[in-house]
Amino acid sequence: MERESLEMDVVFVGAGPANLSGALHLARLVAVHDEAVARGERAGEPLGEVQIAVIEKGAAVGSHILSGAVMDPRALKELIPDFVEQGAPLESPVKEDFFLYLTEKRAIRSPIMPPPLRNHGYYIVSLNKLTAWLGEQCEAAGVNIFPEFPGAEMLYDKKDAVVGVRTGDKGINKEGKRRANFEPGVDLLAKVTVLGEGPRGSLTKQLSQRLNLNDGREPQVYSLGVKELWELSDERYPAGRVTHTLGYPSDARTYGGGWIYGLQNRIVNIGYVTGLDYHDPLLDPHSEFQRFKQHPLVAQLLEGGKLLRYGAKAIAAGGFHAMPQLYADGVLLVGDCAGFLNSQRLKGIHTAIKSGMLAAETIFEALLAKDFSAKQLRRYEKLVRDSWIMPELRKVRNFHAGFRHGRWLGMANAGLQFLTGGRAWGLFDRAGAEAGHGAMKKLWEFGYKSAAIEQRYPNLKFDGKLTFNKLTDVYHASVGHDEDQPVHLHVLDTEICSTRCAEEYGNPCQRFCPAAVYEMVEDGGNGRQKLQINFSNCVHCKTCDIMDPYQIINWVTPEGGGGPEYKNM
Ligand SMILES: Cc1cc2nc3c(=O)[nH]c(=O)nc-3n(C[C@H](O)[C@H](O)[C@H](O)COP(=O)(O)OP(=O)(O)OC[C@H]3O[C@@H](n4cnc5c(N)ncnc54)[C@H](O)[C@@H]3O)c2cc1C
Repeated sequence: MERESLEMDVVFVGAGPANLSGALHLARLVAVHDEAVARGERAGEPLGEVQIAVIEKGAAVGSHILSGAVMDPRALKELIPDFVEQGAPLESPVKEDFFLYLTEKRAIRSPIMPPPLRNHGYYIVSLNKLTAWLGEQCEAAGVNIFPEFPGAEMLYDKKDAVVGVRTGDKGINKEGKRRANFEPGVDLLAKVTVLGEGPRGSLTKQLSQRLNLNDGREPQVYSLGVKELWELSDERYPAGRVTHTLGYPSDARTYGGGWIYGLQNRIVNIGYVTGLDYHDPLLDPHSEFQRFKQHPLVAQLLEGGKLLRYGAKAIAAGGFHAMPQLYADGVLLVGDCAGFLNSQRLKGIHTAIKSGMLAAETIFEALLAKDFSAKQLRRYEKLVRDSWIMPELRKVRNFHAGFRHGRWLGMANAGLQFLTGGRAWGLFDRAGAEAGHGAMKKLWEFGYKSAAIEQRYPNLKFDGKLTFNKLTDVYHASVGHDEDQPVHLHVLDTEICSTRCAEEYGNPCQRFCPAAVYEMVEDGGNGRQKLQINFSNCVHCKTCDIMDPYQIINWVTPEGGGGPEYKNM
């Protein structure tokens, strides 16, 4: 097949905060350098026109971005010191912080605010809006942004150096044949390709496997954040109020917690995080969130209000111990796909932005040296190590691992590491000895006699007022995929679904997917069930790729522009 090749200098894959900050910082470093050389204030050659591209699989910059989000502004201040005056979209400065322990009926306010949860000086933001705004700053600085361009494949030379990325084909029908509107993907060739795909990046996965970037590191562990936006009937929850909760509805063995953030115009952003290293095969993170809303405190808050939006996304929680090698020939990894998130604070925007900036500084030096080899790009790891990122991540390096032993030991460990600067009892000295899906127990190991979901959620009813089923929620994520395209969720062996998985785990994909993508349906009346994939519901959260117990689900990018259309999330 004839493909167009486009020669760029640097290609950033994914228009998240990490890559947009990287692209913007690089464009400015080049401009400042060239102006200084022209004025005779700096020795050396001008770099001239450096072609920088950012590709994004969503329909627009921000469409696929979902976060909390309380933002620590430290990195944004470094990137754009006057971001407030420049009109960065900020919902509200944080005005009050609450930390509550929930039992089934009660909410107990912590007398002291745990330091990692203090958000004074931070901002509540909609990360969709903030990334869209960063995209505008990039375009003003001369960066080329290509929405609806999924990076589908890494391009390598004969020595396995990355030489760019191939974008996905458009106009292939569900049988894999070309439609009238067929357009082949483009080969974007680059001296350096920067992967900023967010958690569980599909290209990052390919690259790491091929170049063994995870060798000697702990496996990454994840959580899933499920979130709704509500418009309240009155001013009962002011903009700028931040509440975090622990306890109900998670059981003591499952990592989980809730949040409620007050935005402008009586809107609250409410969500629940469940650790994707849970043991119970019948657990359903979407149902956990619905139960969170049934807590009297939350139900009262939402009474009379209206559901506006829904979304879900994975969070890379492994941190320091699970970070892959961050560079190879012709490629760098930034943001969540490289594990930069601080899981104790549930904050990754600031580290994503900073990692993007450090990648830009590395590339700038590489452009000056005209050397894009791993030897040169390795400097990125040094810049990361010497920056404020590493001390921050080192201090919380054992946080998530502590919760593998349940909530109470996890909290004790969190307190201990606060006092010891990150050290923990020998027991916790690792981020997670196994990938999260490995913690899931088989039905009988967990004590179940069958796979009936009611066993975990006997009283959960979706009333359409406070609690919603997955399909109603997915409608509020404005998800759209052209239905006449190949399924982008590759299940490598569907026979396992009807046999081993049904018996051993009760087909947990039906539960861990927060968008009702996976469904077991009758297989022609022979008593068996077969897997049906409702791929058009997919919100691109990546949970299936992470949690499938046999690791036979491979999430790949669908046709460009497909997926959720998040707004204000
Ligand atoms: C529920 C939830 C709550 C959170 N709360 C907070 C919070 O309160 N504060 C905080 O600081 N952080 C929070 N975070 C974390 C924060 O959102 C992330 O750390 C941050 O967004 C990471 O930025 P990123 O640029 O690395 O990736 P992302 O923001 O994930 O952006 C990646 C982008 O790349 C695109 N992409 C992916 N693959 C491809 C491909 N192959 N081709 C083209 N495009 C691609 C995606 O569509 C997306 O637009 C939260 C995260 C979640 C999920």
